[in-house]
Amino acid sequence: MKRTTFLLAAAFVLCGISGAMAQEASAVVAGTTTPKFCAGNEMRVTAKLNSIRGALAVYYGDTEGYYPETLKALVPKYLPAIPAISLCDEKNAIVHPGSRRVSDVSAVSPTDAGGWGYVSDRNSTSWGTVFVNCAHNAPSGKPWYQQ
Ligand SMILES: [Zn+2]
Repeated sequence: MKRTTFLLAAAFVLCGISGAMAQEASAVVAGTTTPKFCAGNEMRVTAKLNSIRGALAVYYGDTEGYYPETLKALVPKYLPAIPAISLCDEKNAIVHPGSRRVSDVSAVSPTDAGGWGYVSDRNSTSWGTVFVNCAHNAPSGKPWYQQ
């Protein structure tokens, strides 16, 4: 009985995640700027950012002090997949359509390619930092890469 309840809960969580992904994908396909889509954009992106940061923290613990050379090394053991993100700006316009791209950089300075930035340089003081690779302001007015 308990096991069944757990499985049902897990199924609902997975449906919720794929539902959000489908929503982002449809916004990208339409190629339009929909304020409705942008309304929850910051919250969804932050949740995905936190999921990657959490995976990095576990990886760091498992390896006793090392971050992966690439974010893709987290998949699938620490993270099911690199999450795709679409980014809106202060005017609720989509400035970067859905992307899973990871740009390897040596400091937390955005190249504005969309997707993620990851400081893979072991000699950097920011080694192991992941950020949203966007110099635009998020709907709240705070730059995406500073989230
Ligand atoms: Zn940008």
